[in-house]
Amino acid sequence: MRYYSSQDMARLYCAACNGCGDCCRGMGDTVLLDPRDVCFLSAGLNKSFDELLKEDCIRLCTQNGLILPHLAMKGPDESCAFLQNGSCSIHSFRPGLCRLFPLGRQYTDAGISYFIIENGCDMPGKVKVRIDKWLDIPSLGQYEEFLQLWHSFIKDAGSAVRQALDSDSDDGYAGKLSMFFLQVFFAAGYEPDSFYESFKVRLKKARELI
Ligand code: SF4
Ligand code: SF4
Repeated sequence: MRYYSSQDMARLYCAACNGCGDCCRGMGDTVLLDPRDVCFLSAGLNKSFDELLKEDCIRLCTQNGLILPHLAMKGPDESCAFLQNGSCSIHSFRPGLCRLFPLGRQYTDAGISYFIIENGCDMPGKVKVRIDKWLDIPSLGQYEEFLQLWHSFIKDAGSAVRQALDSDSDDGYAGKLSMFFLQVFFAAGYEPDSFYESFKVRLKKARELI
């Protein structure tokens, strides 16, 4: 598999995209949302995290011991709640995993690298685009730093929750820890302009618990 940096060109743009919407259906609970995704989703739709849950645009799942939000897939064809007539109705503030598609990302000590997902979209005739342009996220360096901090936190926090669950003396602590992380990183809300600063303050507090 070939790995790319954000400065590399890759065949990503689907010039022949017919709006079939297959890339926005049947994803189960795999389109996980990170705190930045939820911040911009809330701001773009003017809805709190709780309202997004109540309106079944997003749902919660347990992954790696943590409770995390993901895009809701609905109806008989399991379509994303934001797919309308074959188009994304939240295109300008769609979540990070949607921006990536058909790319995936790999976390290494040296930073984040990207790869093309096998069988992501099999429409032929993809056109080359530079990856940072494809992602179209302001201050990509700051965003990648956030992603690495979040990725490392969910790994460590997941281990802490699982350890608490395995311990004989657990009296609901694991569940409380998991709920606390959900509250601090998602439900408490953010201001988009100060997202990264606010995230780091919360991360420092949450790290003191694990
Ligand atoms: S699966 Fe490919 S052709 Fe279909 S909507 Fe997605 S990008 Fe377009
Ligand atoms: S948010 Fe938009 S791009 Fe992402 S799965 Fe839903 S409809 Fe597709």
